[in-house]
Amino acid sequence: MATNTTLKVPLLDLRAQYDTIRAEVDDAVRRVMESCHFIGGPEITGLEEEIARYSRTPHAIACASGTDALLIAMWTLGIGPGDEVISPAYSFFATAGTVSNNGATPVFVDVDPRTYNLDPHRLEAAITPRTKAVVAVSLFGQCCDLPALKAICDKHQLYLIEDAAQSIGSEWEGRRSGSMCDFGTFSFFPSKNLGAAGDGGMILTGNAELAERARLLCNHGAKPKYYHSLVGTNSRLDALQAAILRVKLKHLDRWSEKRAKNAALYNALFEGSRVGRPYHDARTRHIYNQYVVRVPKRDELKKSLAERNVGCEIYYPVPLHLQKCFANLGYKVGDMPHSEAAALETIALPIYPELTEEQIRYVAQTVREFVDQG
Ligand SMILES: *Cc1c(COP(=O)(O)O)cnc(C)c1O
Repeated sequence: MATNTTLKVPLLDLRAQYDTIRAEVDDAVRRVMESCHFIGGPEITGLEEEIARYSRTPHAIACASGTDALLIAMWTLGIGPGDEVISPAYSFFATAGTVSNNGATPVFVDVDPRTYNLDPHRLEAAITPRTKAVVAVSLFGQCCDLPALKAICDKHQLYLIEDAAQSIGSEWEGRRSGSMCDFGTFSFFPSKNLGAAGDGGMILTGNAELAERARLLCNHGAKPKYYHSLVGTNSRLDALQAAILRVKLKHLDRWSEKRAKNAALYNALFEGSRVGRPYHDARTRHIYNQYVVRVPKRDELKKSLAERNVGCEIYYPVPLHLQKCFANLGYKVGDMPHSEAAALETIALPIYPELTEEQIRYVAQTVREFVDQG
């Protein structure tokens, strides 16, 4: 106990990660600086090919962020004013924000209370004649039930997009996250499992025509240069980011395995406590972008962890249907009980690969002391 009180465990320690790959990252950065090829070029095509292979998808298009990846996927599908797009009520804001950015209307569906992913059983009731697409999220690094969602989308002729911002490398029955829908989208925000040194994103698809159109929209609709067949925008990934991501991609599986190992240790340490452990659907490969537990008195626990130097985060304190900017959609408290409960009762603990066993034991002990005795 006495030694433990000096421990400090951040939610994420990117510096610890950099220390393990410093030489490779520095070489990659130097390579781009020497080449002075900052936009497009071999680092971008190299990363696109490597991500496509990694995710077992024919086409991958680099863009400026995970938000842009969603925005452009919907834009490519022609989603716009008058269309409804179904989104889970519990996710990062961009999942639904990009629906509005395209001029369409988000329609929210409650999540499965165990996985926090869009509940396929609730999907059909939300479909109307205006529904054009569904954007499903593989939240916290666990692939959602895409085959079930896809069957419903096919029946109603809807597009299906997977927001895979948190789930690169996750699998549903052996199929990779990002590869099972009309579009899959990744984010390389620094805190994601594959994080850049800044913003970045990727759009994945199995459809060559959609891929071509998405690629054009990311580059002002120009092909060749200065000949514009579409009105697009500038949404590109920097070659510097691509070079760094190519280095990190080689380590991703090792990091994901370590995260799963850390999760298993937490699970064992929370055995017999009132801490609600994350549910792992046996059909998935979970990559634990987050390790999220359910606890009574969540906000008090957050305060107590901060006092004891344990990093944590609330993903997400307000479900999407209750966000102020969506007030005009007319949702109210009680409409999405599982999303609302998740927003009140869940908390993410440090799960990053470089955690030591001592740190994990300290976090688990600190949480248990509060939850079981507090
Ligand atoms: C991070 C994230 C995004 C947005 O990605 P950015 O790269 O930050 O724009 C979208 N959806 C989900 C579920 C995310 O976690």
